[in-house]
Amino acid sequence: MTVVTWRIEVDRTSCVGSGMCTAIAPERFVLVGDRAQAVEAAVEPDDAVLDAAESCPMEAIVVRGENAEVLAPEV
Ligand code: SF4
Repeated sequence: MTVVTWRIEVDRTSCVGSGMCTAIAPERFVLVGDRAQAVEAAVEPDDAVLDAAESCPMEAIVVRGENAEVLAPEV
């Protein structure tokens, strides 16, 4: 069985702590101090992660697919 894994990267220097990602995908993002980080860097495909990356006002979240291709945010 092939398990597809996405990777979540959060640039904590760009993050402004808006809490958008934690509101959209509370199981995937957590605020530590006033900056977000991924609960787990490697996750199963989850549309909420894409939504969070698209909604981040700073584009601080990048979601990559199996081959490191950028899935979100769209450029
Ligand atoms: S949505 Fe972006 S700026 Fe807001 S807390 Fe999440 S990573 Fe930080």
